Amino acid sequence: MSKITCSFCRGTGKDPFGIMSWQSVCSVCGGKGVVDVPKPYRVCPHCGGTGAVKTFTCTSCKGKGYVPLPSSPIVTCPECRGSGDDQSNPSLDCLKCHGKGFVITV
Ligand SMILES: [Zn+2]
Ligand SMILES: [Zn+2]
Ligand SMILES: [Zn+2]
Repeated sequence: MSKITCSFCRGTGKDPFGIMSWQSVCSVCGGKGVVDVPKPYRVCPHCGGTGAVKTFTCTSCKGKGYVPLPSSPIVTCPECRGSGDDQSNPSLDCLKCHGKGFVITV
């Protein structure tokens, strides 16, 4: 595990979109400003590392901005070509790779 700055709130611990109130606690890091991501990891392609898709928490990385890489060999997802986005609706995550942009080779 490595501690990284919460992408969703950029380390402030507050909800960046002020859903409840402008000072509401960030739901991703619980207000700590940092999140644990297992190593190795890479930037989440679905949200581009911001942790947010529009004003929603990114479903692929749960708002952390990074997705853990599996120990198995991976290839770029053929469905979304690594973008992590659903081809018909970019605000949804790709069904094949769940927005991670890669799939495990079998
Ligand atoms: Zn946060
Ligand atoms: Zn993401
Ligand atoms: Zn995909």
